[in-house]
Amino acid sequence: MAEVPQEQINSQHGGKPHFFNQTPVSGSSGPQERDAKAPLPKGVVLDKDGKPCRTCTSMSSWRALTKQARAEPAASSTSSSTSTASTVPLAAPATPSSSSIPADCPPDVEELGRSTWTLLHSMAATYPEKADTKQQEDMGGFLKLFAKLYPCWVCADDFQSWMAHPSGRNKPKLGGRSEFGWWMCEAHNEVNRKLGKKEFDCRFWEERWRTGWKDGRCD
Ligand SMILES: Cc1cc2nc3c(=O)[nH]c(=O)nc-3n(C[C@H](O)[C@H](O)[C@H](O)COP(=O)(O)OP(=O)(O)OC[C@H]3O[C@@H](n4cnc5c(N)ncnc54)[C@H](O)[C@@H]3O)c2cc1C
Repeated sequence: MAEVPQEQINSQHGGKPHFFNQTPVSGSSGPQERDAKAPLPKGVVLDKDGKPCRTCTSMSSWRALTKQARAEPAASSTSSSTSTASTVPLAAPATPSSSSIPADCPPDVEELGRSTWTLLHSMAATYPEKADTKQQEDMGGFLKLFAKLYPCWVCADDFQSWMAHPSGRNKPKLGGRSEFGWWMCEAHNEVNRKLGKKEFDCRFWEERWRTGWKDGRCD
């Protein structure tokens, strides 16, 4: 559902050669080390080193890539066998349609995103009602570094660009909890829109992330 959309990648990074479905990467034993004669499955994003970027890719696309990587040796071998079972080097392949990740596996772009939004909104929820200069500087510095270091680099690039809009309209609003929480909600909605997800009504950001819902279900 929420793989990094091709149009997003094409529009934002179309001139760069280092990712998405076209750049050949070397090796052949797994997604990170594949010999990409075949086009990469839809939604797979490459890292800046040309290897598949797990934290930029949804689990379903990653699994399609894993499946392809396992199948490739069979396709290029001289064996006439049509069975893939004998050429799959690891345990049973995952169901391609499943997007759930076992709890002890590395995160995909969605799992990473969910966890990160939890952190970011929680930071807003615990931000001082009125922040002093130092607190504002600290949070500003954090957001700047965060946007640089976020492990999904295509997400990070977009987030940085959004924050640095030439009009200045997307600069973090750090005067106090209320405006910072609202700003974070808008930042999140920007990503929601890009991914075709429903926007969140920012009037409720505090119920969602700080106080719990008024119906008491979080108490
Ligand atoms: C900075 C950043 C940039 C990202 N960029 C990309 C990208 O370019 N491409 C990509 O594929 N993924 C990106 N992601 C991941 C993406 O935003 C989602 O986290 C991921 O797709 C999982 O989505 P989800 O539907 O589970 O809910 P999430 O979007 O992760 O939201 C988690 C929960 O937050 C609440 N929520 C939703 N919207 C808001 C809001 N506006 N304000 C407050 N609360 C809200 C809802 O209760 C929701 O269940 C990015 C994540 C981050 C943190």
